[in-house]
Amino acid sequence: MKRILLQGGRVIDPGSSLDQTLDILLADGAVAEIGRDLRLDEGAGTTIQARGWWIMPGAIDMHTHLREPGQEYKETILSGARAAAAGGFTSIACMANTHPVNDCAAVTRFICEQARQAPVNVFPIGSVTVGMQGKQMVEMGDMAAAGAVAFSEDGKTVENTKLYRHALEYAGSLNRPVVCHCQEPTGLSMKGKSLPCMDFPGFLRWPRSLTSPAASCWPNFSTFPYTSPMSAPGEPWR
Ligand SMILES: [Zn+2]
Repeated sequence: MKRILLQGGRVIDPGSSLDQTLDILLADGAVAEIGRDLRLDEGAGTTIQARGWWIMPGAIDMHTHLREPGQEYKETILSGARAAAAGGFTSIACMANTHPVNDCAAVTRFICEQARQAPVNVFPIGSVTVGMQGKQMVEMGDMAAAGAVAFSEDGKTVENTKLYRHALEYAGSLNRPVVCHCQEPTGLSMKGKSLPCMDFPGFLRWPRSLTSPAASCWPNFSTFPYTSPMSAPGEPWR
């Protein structure tokens, strides 16, 4: 049995409200014991001094951009997944603004197949509309069956509220959340005291509500709103 003892790390587990300096004994890749002053007998395994380390359950990044397909010269699904693993992430969800856009089951399947060799879980997020053009809803059922865990237009929002509502209803019926970017495209930042002086087009709070249906007028939809107050009009949110 392969044993590794991590000594003196800061062990953090929000699930059990644990945040203490402790030792962790790993046996065959699983946590065997957590405690103080744990020791390994001579030759029984490897002891690693973990003072200054944080030891915690793997982090999950719900918003990544893996550049494959289309921009493999920047990053592949595998290289992005390896970077995630090196940073302590065990699961990542990748946005749909690849080339081609992840707007159909074939692209979703491709991502899942490429991710088979990855050291972390890679969960594809499909776009809400074909080509992220905001005109026609994707075939969410096919994409969900192929592995899409959610739907999102990434740094854009769906400006056609009727279409967006249909998308929310359909995604809800598939038990898939819609990750929405709460920004309408004419604004630069949340309207505030400084913006009139700077001649920037601030956006009001109401579009944020409009594009965050779960937070406002349409209950029972599963959405995960996020905002990017620094992204400029026409500039893709990275
Ligand atoms: Zn993004």
